[in-house]
Amino acid sequence: MTNTGTQRANLAVVTMAIPTPPPTEPTMSHTTVKAIAERLNSLLEIDKYADLALNGLQIESPILEVRKVALAVDAGLSIVEQAADHHCQMLIVHHGVLWGQCAAIVGPWARKLQACMTRGISIYAAHLPLDGHMELGNAAQLAQELGLENIAPEFPYKGATIGVRGQLTTPRSAQEVASQLCKFEGALQPPLVLPFGPPIIKTVGIATGAASTLSPECAASGIDLLITGESKQEAYHLAKEHQCSVICMGHYASETFGVRALERVLQREFRVETCWISEPTGI
Ligand SMILES: [Zn+2]
Repeated sequence: MTNTGTQRANLAVVTMAIPTPPPTEPTMSHTTVKAIAERLNSLLEIDKYADLALNGLQIESPILEVRKVALAVDAGLSIVEQAADHHCQMLIVHHGVLWGQCAAIVGPWARKLQACMTRGISIYAAHLPLDGHMELGNAAQLAQELGLENIAPEFPYKGATIGVRGQLTTPRSAQEVASQLCKFEGALQPPLVLPFGPPIIKTVGIATGAASTLSPECAASGIDLLITGESKQEAYHLAKEHQCSVICMGHYASETFGVRALERVLQREFRVETCWISEPTGI
């Protein structure tokens, strides 16, 4: 998005000869790490969530001006390096690098921190706030993608909710819902289906990430099908005994939606360039 001196000179000549029409595309702009972090903290109400993860700005690099933001599900070293290769100054993720434990800055963690500092990448993370947010959250966004009706908060966790419930406009089988989920980035092919609920699904609960053992809560709330990301061994008999269907579409695949929604917020409100970094884990 940069012009050379020659291009600028040519542009100036053209501008003098022909009146410049109003721009049809929003002009890309720049902002600061602090401005983006403060806006997202407020938008996502990060203080509402009791979370193991540190939500908010996790790493502040020496480069405080932001022209381009990378967004991804995870904050692996390969993601940080891709963000730097794409000339970004900030990386926004769902799974950050600080999870409530004090870790010595040695080994891979030291190298990641060094990459952030030397290549100018600040990291902002939103974990549970980006699961439970009723507009921008992973669960709410997936519910919209599936066209659910009567979407409402579900799955209470320490004073907040971390998922949603809703109703299918056309009731159908769990297998049919699973085939709809195949189209999303990084989805398991096919998703894992535990078909122990009613043969025709009307009410769906969504709790993204690793929530496959929530079938008892679903059954108690009249939910026929739980959609989540990653499965656990105990999920099978829990679902069977509670007569609730479960679909595991993949942890990564279930958690692209929130950061994608934040990307649209950044483009709309800050007019910065953005860059989606895809690295599905297959998990
Ligand atoms: Zn997760």
